[in-house]
Amino acid sequence: MRNARVWRRPGERVSGPQSLLVSEGRITGIGVEADRHASTREVDLAGRVVTAGFWNCHVHLTEAVWSDQSGAGVSRVQAAIDDMMLSRGFVTVLDLGSHPRTTNALIRRIEAGELRGPNIMTAGAGIRPWRGVPFYMRELVPWFTRWMLPAPVTGFGAGRAVASQLRSGARIVKLFTGSYVTPERVKPMRTSVARAAVEEAHRRGARVFAHPSNREGTAVALDAGVDALAHVPDDTEGTAPLLAQAAHRGVRMVPTLHMFASTVSADPGYLHPIYTALGDFMRQGGKVIFGTDVGYMSERDTRPELEAMAKSGMGVHHLLRALTSEPADFFDDDERGAIDIGLRGDLTVLDTTSEAVQPADLSRVYATFKDGRMIWPASLE
Ligand SMILES: [Zn+2]
Repeated sequence: MRNARVWRRPGERVSGPQSLLVSEGRITGIGVEADRHASTREVDLAGRVVTAGFWNCHVHLTEAVWSDQSGAGVSRVQAAIDDMMLSRGFVTVLDLGSHPRTTNALIRRIEAGELRGPNIMTAGAGIRPWRGVPFYMRELVPWFTRWMLPAPVTGFGAGRAVASQLRSGARIVKLFTGSYVTPERVKPMRTSVARAAVEEAHRRGARVFAHPSNREGTAVALDAGVDALAHVPDDTEGTAPLLAQAAHRGVRMVPTLHMFASTVSADPGYLHPIYTALGDFMRQGGKVIFGTDVGYMSERDTRPELEAMAKSGMGVHHLLRALTSEPADFFDDDERGAIDIGLRGDLTVLDTTSEAVQPADLSRVYATFKDGRMIWPASLE
């Protein structure tokens, strides 16, 4: 890449225009000229800013388009991947709950090169409290297939459910420790069930995300030892000491702030405590990883989420950290999360030439690379 303003990692300054060299999927040169040979391919970025590839740590692949497995569906599925993920700069996404058959097929089609797509880690179908299917899922899942959604009654059952999901392709685990069974009522998961699920996941090297919802769901998540909260609890009453404890223990938080505004209520009386809870969590040293809940929320633009996070007190370096190095660190992935020699060529090019990047600029993407290959837009290749 020529004329790239390289933003190597959060906390460092954006460089002046220079060259960035990637070969065989890895970053091999920063600020040096390539040894040119016939296979060298050049992209002139005209001074645009390049960062490590972004992560979206909360998506769902449940919309009808994803289950289109016919050959004729390729362009439709590709358009959906582009719109939801690649054009937003996401090179790695965490699917926190979908139909495993659909998601596994999509992952295979990307790996086979039939579709251009991000790295996808999935939580499979997720695990609910007994009789605790969230009300918004009941509309999506017909009653006669609901038995397929794991809802273990005992710790033993929870361990088996986790093992079975990880065997069938899941790489992370999602627990509804607090499940909105009606818009007003949260059903908590039994602590013994949640704890057994976490133990089995950790035994198999998988990270666990919890959907907390309220004080009780957050308490169960912490008692069970989960690794991340998939949302800020939106009923924040009584959660302050628990979130402080989560921050001290290194439990990560995926805020999904705009999802609350977009799917529940834009009433400031509802949103303000959620923003404050996130701000308090960060002031206690809590680590934030970026995620939007897109797929559940239909809106795909990431700008409102970035602006909401900025409003909660995150500066642009902190936002970049949540999008890149923090999730890589969470997964002990030492090949991603920054731009450096030897790391993978997973890169996001912003459509700005300013060295003073603003939060909203992180939503304006010019191109996305995975392993050194441009995966979006198709037309630039
Ligand atoms: Zn979600």
